[in-house]
Amino acid sequence: MKAHDGMYIGGEWRPASGQDTIAVVNPADEQVIDHVPAGTAEDVDAAVRAARAAFPGWAATPPAERAARIAALRDVLAARKDEIAETVTAELGSPLPLSQMVHAGVPVLVAGSYAELAASYSFEEKLGNSTVLLEPVGVVGAITPWNYPLHQIVAKVAPALAAGCTVVLKPAEDTPLTAQLFAEATQEAGLPAGVFNLVTGIGTVAGQALAEHEDVDLVSFTGSTAVGKQIGATAGAAVKRLALELGGKSANVILPGADLAKAVNVGVANVMSNSGQTCSAWTRMLVDAERYEEAVSLAATAVAKYVPGERVGPVVNAKQQARVRGYIEKGIEEGARLVAGGPEAPKDQGYYVSPTVFADVTPEMTIAQEEIFGPVLSILRYEDVDDALRIANDTVYGLAGAVWGADDEEAVAFARRMDTGQVDINGGRFNPLAPFGGYKQSGVGRELGPHGLSEYLQTKSLQF
Ligand code: NAP
Ligand code: MG
Repeated sequence: MKAHDGMYIGGEWRPASGQDTIAVVNPADEQVIDHVPAGTAEDVDAAVRAARAAFPGWAATPPAERAARIAALRDVLAARKDEIAETVTAELGSPLPLSQMVHAGVPVLVAGSYAELAASYSFEEKLGNSTVLLEPVGVVGAITPWNYPLHQIVAKVAPALAAGCTVVLKPAEDTPLTAQLFAEATQEAGLPAGVFNLVTGIGTVAGQALAEHEDVDLVSFTGSTAVGKQIGATAGAAVKRLALELGGKSANVILPGADLAKAVNVGVANVMSNSGQTCSAWTRMLVDAERYEEAVSLAATAVAKYVPGERVGPVVNAKQQARVRGYIEKGIEEGARLVAGGPEAPKDQGYYVSPTVFADVTPEMTIAQEEIFGPVLSILRYEDVDDALRIANDTVYGLAGAVWGADDEEAVAFARRMDTGQVDINGGRFNPLAPFGGYKQSGVGRELGPHGLSEYLQTKSLQF
C-alpha cells in the first residue's frame, strides 16, 4: 500500500501538526520503502479529543450493532488479506507464507471472535438484590509493538470496540504501514468517526504523550518490560486503568515419558518462527539428563531447516540485530555450548541473525534469564521433575510455556505448578479465545476472548 501523509483522526486523514517523518525500512534488504508522519503531543491531543467526542455515542450503541461493525471490520481484513500480508512482509521482513497464515490470518480470527462476543456477551448480571452493569471504561490509549503488527492492534482494538470504548492507537515506529492499512479498514467497515484514531510516531514522543494524556481512561501497552514499567508508573500516578503485555522467557518442559522427537521439533519451530520475535516463544527447552544429548542433536537437525532468507526472515531492525548477536556472544562467553548458528550475520544484506541453538545452558546464565527476541534456543538439563519445575519457574517472567508428558494427565499435573499464564499441553492448538497474559513481570491483565473483553469494562452495581 501507499503510505498516508497524515493521521487518521475523527474519521478522516488529517495533516500532521509537525514536519518530522519516520522512514519505513524493509529489514530484508535495508531499503527505505516509505515515510509516515511522526506525531507530536498535539496530534495525540487531537486524536484523544476525537475519541472522547465519539465515546458517548459508541457506548450507547446497542451491542448487536457494535457486533455488526466488528463483523464488517473482520470481513474487510479478510478481503484485504493479501495486501496485509505483503505490507507486513515489506516492513517486518517475515517470509510471505508466514505473513499470509499468521500475520494476516490470525487477526481475522480474533476480530471474528469479538464480533461474536459483542453479540453474545452479557453486559448486565444479577447478584442478589443487585443488578450489575458492565460499562465501557472510556477512551483507550493503545500502544503496540512491531512483532505481530496487525495482531497486536486487533487484540486491543477489537475487544475495546466490543466493550463500547473508543481508541487512540500509537503503533510501533517500525511497522506503521500495517497500522495505516488497519485504519483504512475501520473506515471501510463503517465505524463511526472518532471511534478509532491513529497517530503514528515515536514511542518517547507520541507514545509517552498518549500514556500521559489526562483524558485517556485506560492505557493498554504491549512491548518491553522496561517501557511497560514506566507506563505502569505513569498510569498508576494518574489512577488510570492499565493493561500490560510484556516480555517472556517461557519453558518448554519435556518430561521423561514424552515423545522426544515431536517435542523437540515443535519446540524448535516455536522459537524460530517469526525470527524468534514472539513474546510467548518457548526459548528455554528443558530435557532430562538421560535423553539430553539426543535432544540436542535432534534440535541441531531441526534448526538446519531454518535457512535465513528462506524459511526464516531477518529481525526487525539493525538495533535488534545487534542486540540479539550480543546475546549470542554473551552465551558463548558464559560457557554455553554452541551447537548451531553463532553471532556472525548469515547474509551481507538485511538484518539477519543465524538460527542458533545453545546446549549446556545453566539457569543462571544471561541467555537463560533475559528475553532475547531473536532466533535463539537454549537447552537446559534437569535431574528430576522437581528440578525441572524449579528451573521452569526460575525467571522474572511468566507468560507462556509448554509441557510434554507421557499423557495429558501427567503434563497437566506439571502445568498446574508452573508460574505462567498460558501452557500448551502435548502440543495443544492455538485458541483465539484463550486468555493470554502474564504472571509475574510478564504483565498485568489478559488479552483475547471474554477475559480480554472484560479488561475494557468497569462495573456499576444498582441495588433494589
Ligand atoms: P518497546 O520500546 O517497548 O516498544 C513497544 C511500543 O512502545 C512501541 O510502539 C514503542 O514505540 C512504544 N514506546 C517506546 N517507548 C515508549 C515510551 N517511553 N512511552 C510510551 N510508548 C513507548 O519495544 P522495542 O524497543 O520495540 O523492543 C525492545 C525489546 O522489547 C525487544 O527486544 C523485546 O525483548 C521486547 N518486546 C516485547 C514484545 C512483546 O510482545 N511482549 C514486543 C516487542 C518487543 P517505538 O516503536 O517508537 O519504539
Ligand atoms: Mg523502542
